[in-house]
Amino acid sequence: MTKKVVIIGGVAGGASTATRLRRLDEKAQITIIERGEYISYANCGLPYHIGNVIKERNALLLLTPEIMKQRYNVDVLVNQEVIKIDRQNKRVLVKRKDKSEYGLDYDKLVISTGSSPIRPPIPGIDSSRVMSLWTIPDTDKIKAYVSDSKVKSALVVGGGFIGLELAENLKALGLKVTLVEMLDQVMTLYDYEMAQLIHESLEENGINLILNNGVASFEDKGQGVNVTLKDGQVIYSDLVIMSIGVRPNSDLAKDANIATNQKGGIIVDDHMLTEDPDIYAVGDVIEVEDFIDKSRTMIPLAGPANKQGRIAADNIAGIKSSYDGTQGTCIVRIFELTAASTGYNEKYLQKQGLVRNKDYHTLTITQNSHAGYYPGATPLTLKLIFSNDGKKIYGGQIIGRDGVDKRIDSIATVMRLNASVLDLKNLEFAYAPPYSSAKDPVNMAGFVAENILTGLVKFSDWDVIEKNPDLQVLDIREEAERVAFSLDNTINIPLGQLRERFNELDKDKDILIFCAIGVRSYNALRVLRENGFLKEKVYVYPAGTRFYISTHYKEYQMEDHTAYTVTDSGHQSDDKAIASISLDCSGLQCPGPIMQVFENLKTMAPGQLLEVTASDPGFTRDIASWCRRTGNTLISNEKIGNSYVAVVQKGGAAVRVPELAGTDGKTIIVFDGDLDKVLASFIIANGALAMGRRVTMFFTFWGLNVLRKPNKQKVKKSFLEKMFGAMMPRGTSKLKLSKMNMGGMGTAMMKYIMKEKNVDSLDELIRKAQKAGVRLVACTMSMDVMGIKEEELIDGIEFAGVGSYLADAEESNVNLFI
Ligand code: FAD
Repeated sequence: MTKKVVIIGGVAGGASTATRLRRLDEKAQITIIERGEYISYANCGLPYHIGNVIKERNALLLLTPEIMKQRYNVDVLVNQEVIKIDRQNKRVLVKRKDKSEYGLDYDKLVISTGSSPIRPPIPGIDSSRVMSLWTIPDTDKIKAYVSDSKVKSALVVGGGFIGLELAENLKALGLKVTLVEMLDQVMTLYDYEMAQLIHESLEENGINLILNNGVASFEDKGQGVNVTLKDGQVIYSDLVIMSIGVRPNSDLAKDANIATNQKGGIIVDDHMLTEDPDIYAVGDVIEVEDFIDKSRTMIPLAGPANKQGRIAADNIAGIKSSYDGTQGTCIVRIFELTAASTGYNEKYLQKQGLVRNKDYHTLTITQNSHAGYYPGATPLTLKLIFSNDGKKIYGGQIIGRDGVDKRIDSIATVMRLNASVLDLKNLEFAYAPPYSSAKDPVNMAGFVAENILTGLVKFSDWDVIEKNPDLQVLDIREEAERVAFSLDNTINIPLGQLRERFNELDKDKDILIFCAIGVRSYNALRVLRENGFLKEKVYVYPAGTRFYISTHYKEYQMEDHTAYTVTDSGHQSDDKAIASISLDCSGLQCPGPIMQVFENLKTMAPGQLLEVTASDPGFTRDIASWCRRTGNTLISNEKIGNSYVAVVQKGGAAVRVPELAGTDGKTIIVFDGDLDKVLASFIIANGALAMGRRVTMFFTFWGLNVLRKPNKQKVKKSFLEKMFGAMMPRGTSKLKLSKMNMGGMGTAMMKYIMKEKNVDSLDELIRKAQKAGVRLVACTMSMDVMGIKEEELIDGIEFAGVGSYLADAEESNVNLFI
C-alpha cells in the first residue's frame, strides 16, 4: 500500500526528509506543505545577500517546488499553512492564502516547522522600521528599505551570530551601524575573555558596540526610529533589526497534545519520533540530546536539522537509524575574524557547579594558522576545556583569521569520537607550509594539555593582573619588544639572561611570567622550577601579550587610533613613500616583525626608509608605539588586503610623528618633584598634545623621582647611592605638595578633591601622556649623580642626555622649566 507522508515545513529539515525518503522509497506519496512562498532556500546566506556578497537572489533558492516535483516526485504546496493536526483521524487541516481550508490524510507526519525570531512586547516594536531577518521576504523587505529609503544608519539589537552577520553586512553597504547587546558580551557561546577579541574587531571595523544595555522602547521619528535604551540614552536610526533569538514554532504540536518541553521544544526519541508513533519532528522545533552530558537541550542549527531530516526519513522507510545528539559546533565570520566553537564553554561548566583545576582545566594558546615562515600566516587563539583527568574534552573556542574552521572541526570530531585530550597530540594532519605547521595548533593544544595534566606548567587567569596587583610580573621578552608594549611594574629579564638573574626575583612571592604568545614563558617557568622556585608560585600568562592586549583592548585602543590611521585601501596608494629597504615579515608572529625592524634599522643610515610587510594584525599597534618610543618615524601604517604595511624612517627627529611635525613643539623640564608642580606639567603636556603639538618632558634631578617605580628594585648600588635613594620619594604616590603639605594632610586632601572633581590622578595623567605620545626623557647625567638606575624607572621612558633635549627644544616654541 502507498504510504502517505506529509511534511510540514519545506526548508532545512523538511526538504531533507523529503529527498532522502524519495531515495529510499519510490512509491511513497510525499507532500510538503509550506506556509511561505519558498522551499529549501539558503537561510544561512540571507545576511550575505543583504550585504551584496551573494549578489544573485536566485542563488539562495536551492530547490523550487517544480524541481522537487520533477526530480523527486514530491508534491510541494506553498503558501499553505497547516493549522491543525488531528491525530485521531491522522489528518492535517490546511489553510490556503485565500483562507479556504481542506483536510489532508497522512500515514506518517513530519513536523519541521522551525523557529521564529523573538519579538518581545517592547513599546513601539510594531513600527514598520523595526524588522527581523528570517525568511526570503524578510530579506527582500530589508534590502528594498535600505535602497529605497536611502538608509544611512542601522541599529541591530542582539549580538548572536545573525546579529553579527547583519552588522557586518549592513556596514559593508556603507551604513553607520550600532549593535546593542543586553549582556556584557556578544556571542554567549564564547567565554568572556574570548568574546573580547570579537568586540575588538567590531569596534576596529567601526561598529558602535553598546553592551550591558537593552532596548526600552522604539518611537518613529522622521524617516527613522528613536531607540531608547535601558540606561536612558536615545539613539536615532533609520532602520532597526531585532535579532535577539528564536522560539520554536511548536503551537501546532502543543494544540495536538504532543509533548513539548518548557521552552516549547517537541520531545522526540533518538529516531526523531514524538510520543505519537506516526508523527516525527526534526529541526529547530525539537528538543535534542546534548551530545556531551546527554541532558536535554535545544540547539537550533542547520547541520543538525538536515541530519535529523535524514534520520526521520530512514525510520519512515524502515531503517532504524538514530540521532546521537548535538554538540553545538558552529562558526561565524565577523569582518576579518572567524570565530568558531564546539561543546561547552567555561561559563556553562561553572553554572553546573564545576570548578576549574578541580573538575576541569582550560588552556589558551596563540598559534599561527600555518608555518610562520610562509607568507600569510596569521595568529589564531584557541581555548580548550577538558576534564580533570583529560579523558573528556568539554569544548573548544577558536578565533582567528585563517584556518579556524578546520581546527574547530578536528576538535569537534575528536569529541564526537569520545577521544581524550591527549589524543589531540597524536592526530596526524596533512602538512605543508602554506596550510599548517609540523605541529598543528590542535596538536599544540594536546601538548599543552599534557603539560598541564602532568603538572609541568600552570597557567594564570587572563585577568590575573587586575585581580592581584601585588603580583610579581616577570616579563621575559627582549628590550625591543617591550618598547612596543609593556606593562607597568614588571621585572624585565630576557629569557636568555634568566639563569644569571634569579636573584632579582622574590622567591616567596607569586611570579607571573609574561611573553609574546606564552611559549617563552613556559620555557622560563621550567627554568625557574628546575632552579628551586616553588611549583605553586610560578605560572604563565596564557597566550601572551597579544591575548592580553585584545582582552584589555579598551585600554590600548587610543594608542592605535589617534596618531595613526590604519587604512584599508586594498591597494598601494600612489603617493606612497619609496623605501630603500623592503622587509617581508609575513607569517612572523609577534614579536618577530618588531625584532626584524629593530635589527634592520641598526644597519641603516638616519633618514633611510624601511618598508615592512607583516601579516600579524597586532603589528599595526606595535609599530606605532615602537616608533614613538624609539625616536623613529612612522611615515605610513596601512592595511593593504590581508597585509599590514608600515614605512618607517630611521630616526628623523625633525619629523618624529608626521601629524606633529613642525617647530611648534613644547619642551618641559621637570626639575622639581613636588606633586602640584608635576601635576601642572603633565596637564600642560597633555593639553599641548591634544592641540597637535609635539611634547618632550625632560626629567632631571628631583623630577626623576616622578618616574621612579613604587617598589624597591633589586639593583647594585654603592652605599652612598643606597642612602640617597632611600631618602628620596619613590614614585608618584610619595610626592608631596610644595605648599600646605601639613605633614601629608594637605597632599591627601588634594588627592581627595581631585578624585571628587573627576580630575585625573597623576598616574593617570602620566599614562595618558605616554599613550598619546608625549616623549618622557630621563636625564642620564642626573640619574648618574643621584644614583638612580634605569631599572628603577617606569617603563616606556627614554634615557638621554641634554643634547637630545636641546634638539627637541630647538624645534619648540615653548620651553618651560618647572
Ligand atoms: P526552517 O529551515 O526554518 O524551516 C521551517 C519552515 O517551516 C519555514 O519555512 C516555515 O515557513 C515553515 N512552517 C512553519 N510553520 C508552518 C505551518 N504551520 N505550516 C506550513 N509551514 C510552516 N544555522 C547554521 O547552522 N549556520 C548558519 O550560518 C546559520 N545562519 C542562519 C542565518 C539566518 C538568517 C537564519 C534565519 C538562520 C540561520 N541558521 C544557521 C539556522 C538554520 O537556518 C536553522 O537552524 C534551520 O533552518 C532549521 O531548520 P528547520 O527545518 O527546523 O526550520
